[in-house]
Amino acid sequence: RPAVERPERTRRLVVANQKGGVGKTTTSVNIACALAQLGQRVLLIDLDPQGNASTALNIDHPRGTPSSYEVLVDGTPLAEVAQPCPDLAFVTVVPATIDLAGAEIELVAEDRRETRLREAIDAHPLVGGVEDAGTDRFDYVVVDCPPSLGLLTLNALVSGVEMLIPIQAEYYALEGLGQLLETVRMVHEHLNSDLVVSALLITMYDARTRLSAGVAGEVREHFGARVLRTTIPRSVRVSEAPSYGQSVMTYDPGSPGALSYLEAARELATRGVMA
Ligand code: ADP
Ligand code: MG
Repeated sequence: RPAVERPERTRRLVVANQKGGVGKTTTSVNIACALAQLGQRVLLIDLDPQGNASTALNIDHPRGTPSSYEVLVDGTPLAEVAQPCPDLAFVTVVPATIDLAGAEIELVAEDRRETRLREAIDAHPLVGGVEDAGTDRFDYVVVDCPPSLGLLTLNALVSGVEMLIPIQAEYYALEGLGQLLETVRMVHEHLNSDLVVSALLITMYDARTRLSAGVAGEVREHFGARVLRTTIPRSVRVSEAPSYGQSVMTYDPGSPGALSYLEAARELATRGVMA
């Protein structure tokens, strides 16, 4: 696959939407793997206690596995809990365990509780530009968020620059989006002025239904060029890949789902940050 140019500095992508089942994890995993196939070095951080992204990338994550929990709660450096993805050399994963479910409560009374992830990413020796992080630097940090707007997602939003919102091409797709954007606005105002909603990705698109086309049209009308031109089709191959511990990118690289994620990754990589 023809590579794309590496960014000058590590780009920070946060995949968030407080609705469950819209394709956050699928998008995080497959965009990370697609970017890797395009020659980019990627650090994927699983921030969902369910650990679905860890599972999908074949990383065991029983309770007690060094994970994002230790990073947030104990201040363990990210590099100490990160693991290489068995299938893709350019993908490194910070797994999540169910311990993370307790982190929201454990952190309630702590200082700087919403900046923990940001500090951990800032401190990673491979995050930055070529001057400080070298040629082995990560080109992308991708954070997969849980389906809520709690402290975990807040940590992700504070850590990030570019927010990628997956939108499921289904009825009610836009419900809750106002609340999400309001949260982003508050984070931008008080905690992280770098944050922008840089990309929206329409997932589980079914070209046979008028509903999918309607949702896609509405999202494009609202968000214009920030919506990736590529849409991700609903495809059985995409949904069955995780049960083989793989992204669809390696499970079935020629399938429409894989090709769409590759195209979406290429768009993200070539167009840069959109404010
Ligand atoms: P979230 O992380 O937002 O909760 P997931 O990525 O886990 O959402 O996706 C929810 C469900 O939809 C999963 O079972 C997943 O396999 C399935 N899914 C996601 N994208 C697709 C797709 N393009 N085609 C078919 N199924 C998909
Ligand atoms: Mg998920």
